[in-house]
Amino acid sequence: MKKFLTLFIILGITSCTNETTDSETVSTDKDKTYNWRLVTSWPKNYPGLGMAPERIADLVEEMSDGQMTITVYGAEEQVPAFGVFDAVSSGSHQMGHSGGYFWKGKVPAAQFFTSVPFGLTADEINAWVNRGGGLELWREIYEPFNIYPIPAGNTGTQMFGWFNKEINSLEDVKGLKMRIPGIGGEVLKEAGGIPVTLPGGELFTALQTGVIDATEWVGPYNDLTFGFHQAAKYYYYPGWHEPGPMLELIINLDEWNSLPKHLQVIIETATKAVNQDMLDEYLAKNNQALTELVEVHGVELRRLPDDVIEEFKTISDQILEELAQEDETIAKVYNSYKSFKEDVSEYHKISEDAFIEARNK
Ligand code: CA
Repeated sequence: MKKFLTLFIILGITSCTNETTDSETVSTDKDKTYNWRLVTSWPKNYPGLGMAPERIADLVEEMSDGQMTITVYGAEEQVPAFGVFDAVSSGSHQMGHSGGYFWKGKVPAAQFFTSVPFGLTADEINAWVNRGGGLELWREIYEPFNIYPIPAGNTGTQMFGWFNKEINSLEDVKGLKMRIPGIGGEVLKEAGGIPVTLPGGELFTALQTGVIDATEWVGPYNDLTFGFHQAAKYYYYPGWHEPGPMLELIINLDEWNSLPKHLQVIIETATKAVNQDMLDEYLAKNNQALTELVEVHGVELRRLPDDVIEEFKTISDQILEELAQEDETIAKVYNSYKSFKEDVSEYHKISEDAFIEARNK
């Protein structure tokens, strides 16, 4: 009897101990709050792309019932616009919202996950990243930097930008000092221009004071808010350099791994919703803004001459091929991107492209 009692007590104690441990583990996951900081490359509360991280933060807070809050800081508030990648990599900030092509000096292959000249449109890059093997490659190339990327917004096809002189031929590109990031900038350089990389917040002044002759930014909806029409006369299209730029939510990998699974799912789901929502917002607002720019502000809308577009395309293809020869990582990403683009272009010829041509006749 005594033996049984002792055994019972031992079991009882063991059982109690297990229960305590289990309930402590569960309560830690459920009740621990997470207050994260997110830095961006955009001015605080900037319409469209600057609101994406704010919307992700709001959704995460609501979906997690307040267990997780994210404070969003605009460019320069805590780190410089182009310091976002390093801040997240080092862990000084848990999260960032930006565009991968800004990190081309560190991670050249990252450009494919934002936009490359004559590359994928918004729908197409969504399909490649989410369903075509792109996301796995993206996570693989960011892992050495201790960063976990999630697609987080798209502006749709951009405009080529704002110019103070007309582009009538390739001669007019020579010596042109233009703000244009990523591979688009390299194409301009090869064509005789002078590419410059500046954060969005500095563009208006640079254009107005003549520090640059031209700038690309996004499209009518965003460009109107920066007031570029007060600093330049001509508005050129198409945005061959950024056909469907995908933005990124980047998370410090150690911090990501420390999150309970349900918060990871909430962040992924909220970000996926915002990735689409931003595209919808731009598509809904761009034409209204363009009408205002042309009809109210007298902006001259111009299409780039065909031979200039053709030359940019030839140079772009060469640069991408050369880039792919630089190292295996770039080649791996480039090959996946290129083969997806070829496939999707073939299908679009007899679906979207054929339909749009028929509808707009
Ligand atoms: Ca742009």
